[in-house]
Amino acid sequence: MTAEYKVHGDVALITLDNPPVNGLGLATRQAIAAGLEQAQDDPAIKAIVLTGAGKAFSGGADIREFDSPKAITEPNLLSLILAAENSTKPIVAALHSVAMGGGLELALGCHYRIAAPGCKVALPEVKIGLIPGAGGTQRLPRVLGVETALNMIVSGEPVASELLAQLPGQKLFDRMAASNDSLLEEAIAFARTMADVRPLPLVRNLPCKHPQGDAYFQFARNMVKGLAKNFPAPVKCVDAVELATKHKVDSGLALEREIFLNLMLTPECRALRHIFMAERAASKIPDVPEDTARRDIRSVAVIGAGTMGGGISMNFLNAGLPVKILEMKQEALDRGIATIRKNYEAQIKKGKLAQDKYEQRMALLSTTLSYDEIKDADLVIEAVFEDMGVKQKVFEQLDATMKPGAILATNTSTLDVNRIASFTKRPQDVVGLHFFSPANVMKLLEVVRGDKTAKDVLATVMALAKKIRKTAVVSGVCDGFIGNRMIEQYSRQAGFLLDEGCTPQQVDKAIEKFGFAMGPFRMSDLAGNDIGWAIRKRRAVERPEMKYSATADKLCELGRFGQKTGAGWYDYQPGKRDAIPSAVVNELIEQHRASLGITPRKITDEEIVQRLVFSLVNEGAHLLEEGIAARASDIDMVYLTGYGFPVHRGGPMKYADTVGLFTVMQAMKRFQRNPHDDAAFWEPAPLVKRLVAEGKTFN
Ligand code: NAD
Repeated sequence: MTAEYKVHGDVALITLDNPPVNGLGLATRQAIAAGLEQAQDDPAIKAIVLTGAGKAFSGGADIREFDSPKAITEPNLLSLILAAENSTKPIVAALHSVAMGGGLELALGCHYRIAAPGCKVALPEVKIGLIPGAGGTQRLPRVLGVETALNMIVSGEPVASELLAQLPGQKLFDRMAASNDSLLEEAIAFARTMADVRPLPLVRNLPCKHPQGDAYFQFARNMVKGLAKNFPAPVKCVDAVELATKHKVDSGLALEREIFLNLMLTPECRALRHIFMAERAASKIPDVPEDTARRDIRSVAVIGAGTMGGGISMNFLNAGLPVKILEMKQEALDRGIATIRKNYEAQIKKGKLAQDKYEQRMALLSTTLSYDEIKDADLVIEAVFEDMGVKQKVFEQLDATMKPGAILATNTSTLDVNRIASFTKRPQDVVGLHFFSPANVMKLLEVVRGDKTAKDVLATVMALAKKIRKTAVVSGVCDGFIGNRMIEQYSRQAGFLLDEGCTPQQVDKAIEKFGFAMGPFRMSDLAGNDIGWAIRKRRAVERPEMKYSATADKLCELGRFGQKTGAGWYDYQPGKRDAIPSAVVNELIEQHRASLGITPRKITDEEIVQRLVFSLVNEGAHLLEEGIAARASDIDMVYLTGYGFPVHRGGPMKYADTVGLFTVMQAMKRFQRNPHDDAAFWEPAPLVKRLVAEGKTFN
């Protein structure tokens, strides 16, 4: 049973009980329907109270059911709401903590609603690419007015019950309870008062109008269209609410349903639902049980006050954890602190941070030149130069000074975390925490699991990631981890495209049109072209079989490192970031092409996108096979949160599934036959071949 039925004198109490948020899955719906039935049948019952156990009234539909027949199995949410409306005895919905999505829609089918303060009320369906599909767009405007309801439906954002209760003329809540604790008692008393009142009030019978009608909806549609970009759902929210003002309720409900079902099939909705599940999945590590005991993290030390050290520190200060930064010289500390201040002050200027919060955060920050002063920190994160010798000294020092049980983390982007761990006598306490730049902004945190990293260390850093609002994804140890190992293949393809006939701006434009925040060449100019140069020099020694276009090396030989040198793949005007196509670069590419004897050909945007994205996909498949990534959806999260992959496409692996792996493999084979591309590069990963043979997908 996922709902409990109890009798309080002449009032029946139905309590949803489906942790964590009383999702309205099939079993819960059946239990509620059975409770309603039982109450109708019992002559001693005069009224019904519907509420939720634990931490929610209800968080809404169970999205894991969406693609299964369970979602439409009777009683589906629509018929359950209809059963509530048709109850011959009044139903009072007692809302607390969370009343969202289908939960709120169910409450809107009840005759009365009483809410505790602090209850988060929302119709968040738009966030997974849908509109509310069980009457939300038709009933909410009737109790809150068209504009408030539309704002809530288009944004999907929660609003506190006490704020809604203050809106003039609102009919969402009949009563506010004094507190969560008194809610049930008040709801039962209220139900008793209303037991004999007839006719029973229904939200569906309330009028729904907007004084400016068409003009208002046209305005709303234009606004929303501009903001929604690649997503169809927000505009459909406007359409659906407009229907509420123009149609009788039942026809409005039927049209709402039609829009809902059509959206459900769109790739954008599938992508958003995939991300919703992927985010939750990423926080789980298959062999680390959820109840693994965690270490207490009350203080953090950071080694190195450079670009990364400063940004990393800010994350913990923002979360209220004290941070001590250690450096070799006082000047480096002063510089680092000044940068942190500058970043916070910029936030204050933009109105994103209050002065007193800023002061609280800075008060948590301290600095030192001595290891002795950080020895009691629960977590230390090393962010010194990317050099094994330097890291070795730091970790030997940490091993000698840190208290037992402290977690020792490295922010290395390319070095072997197992080797770093071997510099200590406690490799079980060592883990990689790979932040992305700017570390105080970027959502992604790659948690690099060494061979010996203890499970409680992993459980601790995953929980900590949540606290500092990062999306943590676990990666095994390999060169580049998940994200950078894949991006290297993508950059290699971008180079081959230049050799064959593209200009940097053509490649960037094509992939930006696909939805990437920034194309590979603009990106490289931003990050610094010298980084890739250093990697290629290393590769030439370690993996000479790996081919690259020589254009990037030639660019670096000219000192064109990107924005920081005022020139890279593009030209830049002093103080500006606009990428201006460069005659010098075009000349350089043409000369290189001629030296290879390649006659340039016209390459379509479609081919550019496929070659760039499928290069990610193939490397992703290798990572899965090697066990570096645990799930395809983890790879998607890395790309969505760290590399600007278009959200509406759900990540590279999801995109490949959407295109179809057979088609993806066919394309790879086509590229393999291209004499100017790298045949070894396009050999489909064994996992791709296997999935195609079995007719399966990554997800
Ligand atoms: P950085 O040069 O900006 O900063 C390094 C700081 O470490 C300097 O302030 C230096 O004085 C200090 N330092 C060097 N040796 C030290 C020692 N022995 N003890 C104490 N302090 C010492 O470098 P960064 O960009 O912040 O990179 C730091 C680490 O983060 C590297 O491992 C890098 O690979 C990694 N990383 C960088 C980025 C990025 O985009 N910059 C992204 C992810 C990871």
